[in-house]
Amino acid sequence: MTGKVSDLQTVYPFGGGATSGDPRAKDKTIVGGKGANLAEMADIGLPVPPGFTITTEECVRYLNEGGEFPAELRRAVGEAVGHIERSVGKRFGDANDPLLVSVRSGARVSMPGMMDTVLNLGLNDETVEGLAKTSGDARFAWDSYRRFIQMYSDVVLGLDHGLFEEALEIAKEDKGYYADTEMEAEDWQALVAEYRRIAEGELGRPFPQTVTEQLWGAIAAVFDSWDSDRAKVYRRLNDIPAGWGTAVNVQAMVFGNMGDTSATGVAFTRDPATGERAYYGEWLVNAQGEDVVAGIRTPQYLTRTARDRAGAKPLSMEEAMPDAYGELARVFDLLEGHYRDMQDIEFTVERGKLWMLQTRTGKRTAKAALKMAVDMAGEGLIDEKTAILRIDPMALDQLLHPTLDPEAPRDVLTTGLPASPGAASGRIVLDADTAETWAGRGEKVILVRVETSPEDIHGMHAAQGILTARGGMTSHAAVVARGMGRCCVSGASAVSIDLKARTLRIAGRDLAEGDVLTLDGSTGQVMAGEVATIEPELAGDFGTLMEWADRHRRMGVRTNAETPVDCRMAVSFGAEGIGLCRTEHMFFDASRISAVRQMILAEDEAGRRKALALLLPEQRADFAEIFCTMAGRPCTIRLLDPPLHEFLPQGDAEFEELAEATGFGADHLKRRAAELHEFNPMLGHRGCRLGITYPEIYEMQARAIFEAACDVAADGEAPVPEVMIPLVSSKRELELMRALVDRTAEAVFTERSARIDYLVGTMIELPRAALMAGEIAEEATFFSFGTNDLTQTTLGVSRDDAGRFLGAYVDKGVFARDPFVSIDIDGVGELVEIAVERGRGTRSDIKLGICGEHGGDPASIAFCEKVGLDYVSASPYRVPIARLAAAQAALRAGAGDA
Ligand code: PEP
Ligand code: MG
Repeated sequence: MTGKVSDLQTVYPFGGGATSGDPRAKDKTIVGGKGANLAEMADIGLPVPPGFTITTEECVRYLNEGGEFPAELRRAVGEAVGHIERSVGKRFGDANDPLLVSVRSGARVSMPGMMDTVLNLGLNDETVEGLAKTSGDARFAWDSYRRFIQMYSDVVLGLDHGLFEEALEIAKEDKGYYADTEMEAEDWQALVAEYRRIAEGELGRPFPQTVTEQLWGAIAAVFDSWDSDRAKVYRRLNDIPAGWGTAVNVQAMVFGNMGDTSATGVAFTRDPATGERAYYGEWLVNAQGEDVVAGIRTPQYLTRTARDRAGAKPLSMEEAMPDAYGELARVFDLLEGHYRDMQDIEFTVERGKLWMLQTRTGKRTAKAALKMAVDMAGEGLIDEKTAILRIDPMALDQLLHPTLDPEAPRDVLTTGLPASPGAASGRIVLDADTAETWAGRGEKVILVRVETSPEDIHGMHAAQGILTARGGMTSHAAVVARGMGRCCVSGASAVSIDLKARTLRIAGRDLAEGDVLTLDGSTGQVMAGEVATIEPELAGDFGTLMEWADRHRRMGVRTNAETPVDCRMAVSFGAEGIGLCRTEHMFFDASRISAVRQMILAEDEAGRRKALALLLPEQRADFAEIFCTMAGRPCTIRLLDPPLHEFLPQGDAEFEELAEATGFGADHLKRRAAELHEFNPMLGHRGCRLGITYPEIYEMQARAIFEAACDVAADGEAPVPEVMIPLVSSKRELELMRALVDRTAEAVFTERSARIDYLVGTMIELPRAALMAGEIAEEATFFSFGTNDLTQTTLGVSRDDAGRFLGAYVDKGVFARDPFVSIDIDGVGELVEIAVERGRGTRSDIKLGICGEHGGDPASIAFCEKVGLDYVSASPYRVPIARLAAAQAALRAGAGDA
């Protein structure tokens, strides 16, 4: 960085002819996403109300310095307010013709619903009269003032908004009104007086009347909200660093609530749920922006087609305000062409004139993201590489899961809005905390709320799906659910909830918390009970994008799988082989566990061999099935690596059962199990230590592998087994195990008069193995990085116990992310790099892969690309994610040219 931070501009004006050559004025990291796009829209000549942005750096400084505003910032903001005043020809706080502003947050990336907004700021007992005069509409002026008090009290002063809503309800009731629109100027005026009484009663001081005090209060509230609990939750869920801070945007107000020629709305340049190339949005006549998003009034459709499709009565904007709509459509095209991506737009029409309040790259479902990327590449708006880079690999997960079987019977209770696609069944929960608690104990839950708010984020995350009684397609519930990939049905007005009784009624049917409900987020249907599902269709846009990704990736993608079902699924998802077949998982089956326990608890080699003889045919059959399924693709089979405690019998019943199967007394078996007890099973008698001490176990497994391979080769395509030895830390261990495998292979080949190609390699999953990789490579033709154990042993953090404290470690910034989810590049990553370098130093063509859970994590995959691994291996559902992430990593590294 050149110069001190204090030399840099802290406030950037936009609109009203403001220009700035300073690249920081449009840099999202400095002025936030909203600020950068407002400046950009103003620059390309779109109608943007003038305003200014206070930088994210000032937010960070404010939070670090305990909530102080430096004199320099106060001066810069004063000047910027002057810019707005000059542009619109009104003065802030002028009793005759006041300038009013909005104050909004705007972080580097959009955080929907997370940060706070204040509208109509600058109104007080005097300026409200001026506004009434200049607008010629006293009702509008007093309505605006009461909205301001309500919002400011909630967002800035932290008062309970329920108090104000209650007062409004009482005022309406007293007058016998049903809707807000029936309120007259004097009704609003009386309500303002009531609001001020409430605020003063709660605060112990009057509601602020000085407009600059109002402004600084709002700026402080935006900055403070960066550190609010709900913002922290959102950041944690979305990996947003706490150090980014938010910018503040202060902008001249334009009014959508100035009568029937005014309106406000939100729109997308393409359909965010399906990706269809059609303008999509909602608007409200005579309303302010928050009315649309808050779901208080049910919004109208933007286009005539959408209204027709929904069979809705109220006119679309296209029909009701053709001129403003025409202008809006022109702006849509301009913005999409400019940003080369689907835009999410907020606009206001003030007495027939269109104003743009925001544009940003729109959030979309995975399905829509794929369709838009493929379509836009077809339209020539973007190229194939951009299309690949545009899809969040993790979002593909939404498409890989089952949808409702169209043939299955459905007991449809009601139909709401199809706010976020996918299907989900689960038990009804009525609040976010219950959702989290029930989900925590393994229950699938559906969160049912009147409407959601940012306080519900943790519950939405814990739930399989979300159902709301109120709110449109752009309500908080809809936007957040789409972002999270949760299915959501919103605005199901037939749902009424009794929170006290923990019951609900849907279109006349009574239900209670705990009852099972199914949601179809693609049609909006809400169904009683569970509905059968079917596997997803992976052709179409999905197939096209995957093809493009495969063209651009360098690394191979394999799967971690040990059952034929998983193998088949992984192959259908594009797996090119098995990167890890955990053979101990093949023993979990109830029919085998007894023989395994017999083997573990045997007193001597003879006892073990007896049990192994029972397991051999089963293992052979398993391997033969896997080889057939994988049809000649490479299969890495890892020899037994069980922490023994996972297999020992638990409780009297299991011991009794085993006693019966083995003929040993239960007491004898219990004594033997006690002898085998380990304090640290993860660091105990597992991995190749088992093969070194009891070679007959690995010998049986190697025999099963080679016999199966010979059998399958005799019938068709020869498999390519890659025998992998776990938990190696020295060359000698591998030397011993490799000799055992080679010896067994030779014996089988002689018996069968056949020969097949195979490899012997090792996992690198202990720090010592990484460091000794040069020597170990003398014995190994491949390495597979077992980053689960490598993380556990490098960090000294138990895989099984980390849950208790890792959350706090991530919250407090010790780890940027859970190191078991995303590889610790600095520590574990360095060991991987060392092993790659030393392994290749010994054996230049050594095959290198990764099979820890990190093999399905996009950030870790990018790291694997960087260090030059040959392939990644991921669980079946992660295979498409890995294919796309590998392509993106190659493209970003400049190596993905087809
Ligand atoms: C690993 O340790 O990363 C690994 C893949 O093996 P497991 O998870 O079976 O210990
Ligand atoms: Mg391991």
